[in-house]
Amino acid sequence: MTENSADPHEAEAVPTAPLVSLRGVNKHFGALHVLRDIDLDIAQGEVVVLIGPSGSGKSTLCRTINRLETIDSGTIEVDGRPLPAEGRELARLRARVGMVFQSFNLFAHKTVLQNVVLAQVKVGRVPKDEAERTARELLERVGVAAQADKYPSQLSGGQQQRVAIARALAMDPKVMLFDEPTSALDPEMVNEVLEVMRSLAARGMTMVVVTHEMGFARSAANRVLFMADGRIVEQNTPEAFFTAPSSDRAKDFLSKIL
Ligand code: ADP
Ligand code: MG
Repeated sequence: MTENSADPHEAEAVPTAPLVSLRGVNKHFGALHVLRDIDLDIAQGEVVVLIGPSGSGKSTLCRTINRLETIDSGTIEVDGRPLPAEGRELARLRARVGMVFQSFNLFAHKTVLQNVVLAQVKVGRVPKDEAERTARELLERVGVAAQADKYPSQLSGGQQQRVAIARALAMDPKVMLFDEPTSALDPEMVNEVLEVMRSLAARGMTMVVVTHEMGFARSAANRVLFMADGRIVEQNTPEAFFTAPSSDRAKDFLSKIL
């Protein structure tokens, strides 16, 4: 360390612009008001776990952040820029906001390797050999390198979900959104996916995770957001939230799942 290098603790205290910022976001599906006045800032490197009853708007909130859903009012910025409406700019944004769904959504007729190569070449305009190199590194990192030439249907659910994570990472995202990534998995495969997510968090990835895995929330989240009826009802550190939730809605929710 030189004298000029910043003290890491001091550096942490320097306020930086949030990586993801939502202000006054509202969203309706017809008459249904699914997101109500959502204000949310997510810092670089932060892991936010989103929990709440079914239908509370968790998936919709995630989907608005990479504009899989439009919003009716409010603003969303990623890395200081408002979400582009359409076209190539939108495709680029989607690449920078990785999303992993409950259903793995891999291309069934492409090999594992091709699944991780494709968007890099098509959207990222990365040369094919470089894209393959990146893909192999990422498949190694999520522990499925040996499956590179297989088709998704030849893999277990846990392996497929790890490929889906590698595919999102291949676009070098600034933030990763996970919408119930382990809900469709057999119980014995849940941990292998959570482990990959933990290691991503440890490497400093900014993450928004919708999950029912409270062990993961406790151990990996910097902040837990509790949603109900389209609102962020409360938010806190996992320790504080799980030991002393303040709202009746959260108490009721936790009493049913813990
Ligand atoms: P969660 O992920 O918390 O279970 P969602 O964001 O999926 O909640 O859904 C919030 C509400 O919006 C629910 O009432 C759901 O039925 C409704 N909804 C979600 N997607 C659509 C859609 N595409 N069209 C109409 N209603 C929808
Ligand atoms: Mg959902």
